[in-house]
Amino acid sequence: MLSDEEIIDIKQKLISHIESTFPPEQILSAKSQIEAMNLEQLESFIEKNKLIKNPEEENAGCVFCNIASGKINSVRLGEDENAVAVLEINPISKGHFIVVPFQHTDYAPKEAMELAKKISKKIREKFSPKEIEILKSKMFGHEIINVLPVYNNENLNSERHRETMENLEKVKEELEKKEEVKEEKPLKEKIEEFRWLPKRIP
Ligand SMILES: [Zn+2]
Repeated sequence: MLSDEEIIDIKQKLISHIESTFPPEQILSAKSQIEAMNLEQLESFIEKNKLIKNPEEENAGCVFCNIASGKINSVRLGEDENAVAVLEINPISKGHFIVVPFQHTDYAPKEAMELAKKISKKIREKFSPKEIEILKSKMFGHEIINVLPVYNNENLNSERHRETMENLEKVKEELEKKEEVKEEKPLKEKIEEFRWLPKRIP
């Protein structure tokens, strides 16, 4: 059974999903259909569209589980044993990514936050945003971490645009491009050298 708050949340998410994926001429009617649904209709809609977990097919309809398992294609920026970081397919700004824990759970493990911070650092170095917003959010019981580089005054409610995989791959490439580093002796060797300089007083 869903609480009023959850219903509002689910409706909002469905609507934003519709806005980013439906053909323009269908958006208005699909939106008003969702808005007009009562609890019962909404629950059956969710079930029919496999949007929440069904005990028999474990979390089969969870978009985040499918991203984490690779059933849904995504551009991966990094992962560890707890979570995977992928570029948002409907980004608000350049480098916008999400960290998805592999486990379908209400509370993302703290390691997921560490992964988010680690990749944020790269974003900061390469894309120089004004700041980076890190915010948790949850859909159908799967908590994720949103990492949004802010260049102007974007926030998580700002307009999204559908991005192609090709362009997302380019963002990843840019992010991972190594800077040319000058060959330099490691610090340790320099210190050794210094230490062994003959100390002679003429
Ligand atoms: Zn899930």
